[in-house]
Amino acid sequence: MIRIRYCTNCKAYTLGETCKKCSGKTIINAPVKYTKDETIAKYRREIKRKSLDSISKV
Ligand SMILES: [Zn+2]
Repeated sequence: MIRIRYCTNCKAYTLGETCKKCSGKTIINAPVKYTKDETIAKYRREIKRKSLDSISKV
């Protein structure tokens, strides 16, 4: 799995250990916006639907 790195200096995503734009240091712990958000959003929708269902049944 490819680790996306994140430049704290110019907030650019890169795969290298140094940023191509500013040659600053990058970190692995990038704010993940791609994969996780999608699954979390799905869960939230599911939970919301279920809670609405249980409310309407009562
Ligand atoms: Zn940079």
